[in-house]
Amino acid sequence: MSASQPGPEPVEAELAFRSRRVLTPDGPRPATVTVTGGVITAVLPHDTPLPPATRLVDCGGDALLPGLVDTHVHVNDPGRAEWEGFWTATRAAAAGGITTLLDMPLNSLPPTTTAAHLAVKRDVAGPKAHVDTGFWGGAIPGNVKDLRPLHEAGVFGFKCFLSPSGVDEFPQLDREQLRQALTEIASFDGLLIVHAEDPAHLGSAPPAHGPRYADFLASRPRAAENDAINLLADLARELDARVHVLHLSSSDALPTISAARRDGVRLTVETCPHFLTLTAEEVPDGATEFKCCPPIRERENQDALWDGLAAGTIDCVVSDHSPCTTDLKTPDFGDAWGGISSLQLGLPAVWTAARERGHTLHDVVRWMSQAPARLAGLTAKGAIEPGRDADFAVLAPDETFTVDPARLHHRNQVTAYAGKTMYGVVRSTWLRGRQITDNGRIVEKAGRLIERNPA
Ligand SMILES: [Zn+2]
Repeated sequence: MSASQPGPEPVEAELAFRSRRVLTPDGPRPATVTVTGGVITAVLPHDTPLPPATRLVDCGGDALLPGLVDTHVHVNDPGRAEWEGFWTATRAAAAGGITTLLDMPLNSLPPTTTAAHLAVKRDVAGPKAHVDTGFWGGAIPGNVKDLRPLHEAGVFGFKCFLSPSGVDEFPQLDREQLRQALTEIASFDGLLIVHAEDPAHLGSAPPAHGPRYADFLASRPRAAENDAINLLADLARELDARVHVLHLSSSDALPTISAARRDGVRLTVETCPHFLTLTAEEVPDGATEFKCCPPIRERENQDALWDGLAAGTIDCVVSDHSPCTTDLKTPDFGDAWGGISSLQLGLPAVWTAARERGHTLHDVVRWMSQAPARLAGLTAKGAIEPGRDADFAVLAPDETFTVDPARLHHRNQVTAYAGKTMYGVVRSTWLRGRQITDNGRIVEKAGRLIERNPA
């Protein structure tokens, strides 16, 4: 080529991200991603010339991931904001590479069980949101009439429990109430998301007591999950309804799930970083920062969950970040509040275990960004491709760090991951083209409240 021949026409863009590892939906590749107005406009070859007016963010060898979408977060604000609030939770999310979170309907006061309660939550969350924030509604006894108004007000779906939730203002549904709620939700093709543990099995197991993890584990048997998931698969099939199983722990339920899906039943499933990275065998006595329901189970169960992810039977990996004040984490597994805090650590925790098991960063992005975005119908999130929001996490995947609770942004710095060394340092997080974190430091609050896309 002679010097007089014109090169390729430079592309117009406000902003461009260049990396040798851009995680596109087709896999990682060297690319330049252009952004205008907070939206991705093109994914171009790595060395595409840019006009001088374009601001270039050169990530070098760091990976450019679509921002993570965490559809399972308990923010507890207002009402139990001393456990966690929108200010602290969304900062922790941002520092961990999460750009969208959906808040669970319980543990706040009021719970998100009516459209009026949703309005209260939105008013509280709006000024505090550092990442894009949306809401699940709740299905409790007596609120069938509130489900459609909540749907129309923009919730992403409805959470229910089949066993006690842990808070009095959010009771579980019995079988008849479950059927009524799901019939109503199916009438507008909404989504029901379920804490799936059968109360009969929990009632006949020895109750949780004392500091020994083995006793706690025995109080939440796999059969409780397995039977609840059988029931949900049957109901989803019968009512042609969309049902999502929250925080799957029992790998014994995987054959039921895959059989239902093979038959076209609209059943989706998530699991959580703690089930994939922590095992019952390693929980010290009295270490109730590891307590959650359903519980962390044995190593052999964890291996089977990874197989379920690899096979595509499990769709998503989301945090179930559910904190409380430190005084509620007593050393007795019977009394302590159940919930694991991991919002800021989910990506490195899962990536560390995934790479050991031969999975790629592309797999992690599928489980933690693409699939949760699809579950929630978030068509602007979950992928690096033209037309989507310019939400990114810049990750140094081969760099390690050791978890220091003092560096976590969530309100009560209790975590089951303290002292663990992990692969994957989040260098920066970007929301609609704006940098919101820099090496764990918050630099801008740019979150918006989001609603379900009207179908
Ligand atoms: Zn939860």
